[in-house]
Amino acid sequence: MKAACFQDIQKVACKEIVNPTIIEPHDAIVKVSLAGLCGSDLHVYYGRETGVDVDMVMGHELVGTVVDVGQDVKQISIGDRVYTPFTTNCGDCFYCNSGMTCRCPSGQLFGWVENGIGLHGGQSEFVRVPLADGTLKVVPESVSDASALLLGDNFSTGYYCAEMCEIEPGGTYVVVGCGTVGLLCIMSARHLGATNIYALDPVPERRAEAEALGAIALPPGEAAIREIKSKTENRGADGVMELVGLPDAQKLAYDVMRPGGIMSVVGCHCTPHFAFSPIDAFDKNLTYKTGRCPARYYMDQLTGLVADGTFEIDSFVSKRFGVEDCAEAYDVFSNRKDGCLKAALEFG
Ligand SMILES: [Zn+2]
Ligand SMILES: [Zn+2]
Repeated sequence: MKAACFQDIQKVACKEIVNPTIIEPHDAIVKVSLAGLCGSDLHVYYGRETGVDVDMVMGHELVGTVVDVGQDVKQISIGDRVYTPFTTNCGDCFYCNSGMTCRCPSGQLFGWVENGIGLHGGQSEFVRVPLADGTLKVVPESVSDASALLLGDNFSTGYYCAEMCEIEPGGTYVVVGCGTVGLLCIMSARHLGATNIYALDPVPERRAEAEALGAIALPPGEAAIREIKSKTENRGADGVMELVGLPDAQKLAYDVMRPGGIMSVVGCHCTPHFAFSPIDAFDKNLTYKTGRCPARYYMDQLTGLVADGTFEIDSFVSKRFGVEDCAEAYDVFSNRKDGCLKAALEFG
């Protein structure tokens, strides 16, 4: 089969590799129809996170059809159109039962194989999905592949970020970072009742998208902080949603929030240090919430709202490529060429 395989920093290539097969009795094999490229794939692509094997299949966002199941798989059948969160989970442990599916002790992240250990990603014609009963979910007929893909990661993560911010009507909120997850976070925050949302991003096209969703978009910096403070009797925002994962964004989030506010962070930080100190946190009575999104839990919460049209997210997958053109897909997506916000590989 053909797959988008990691070769080296900034080098992903389409390779012919061996098809996956059932290894454990709870595995399923999925024939992929659509596989997303995600901002966190770029951590591997740019070498911000290192250690993955050459020829590892990239990606953790996928939708497809089940073509084989192990003997212990009971909830999912051959022929089902399914979607998945970016990590597997058993569906039946303390964490899975309490909505923290991303911390299932048996779970694995798609698209991370180190010294032969781990799970290949979904940017390939076929993918092995362990713990299929807990992980996979059948896509309702009215939900498109693109929407299902976003439910498995970007939309769930954006919604989680907004929900952690404990939005109150009338409050002032700031979204730092307006990539796909940030934009979906803005939609979610509005759904949860936020009316005053500031969106900070250096990229003009992203600010235009944020404005279209009802946010006031500004370039990040001192002027934005002054503007937001001037609209809140010089207090600052009641909550900040940080979706970037870099020190500058974290510092900005700190500076723009009021004392007693909530900082909700789904940006995937790769450095071991905070951009603000414990003293700074104390001096602002800051609540800091962060972590990997329990996407399997949110797939259950949000799919109905996509199926009934409350959220129209389909168009966020703005560019599609064949797997043969995966190198170009990474180039276009990582460099935001042609204003590309979200790219996916489409399989025939
Ligand atoms: Zn992702
Ligand atoms: Zn579990």
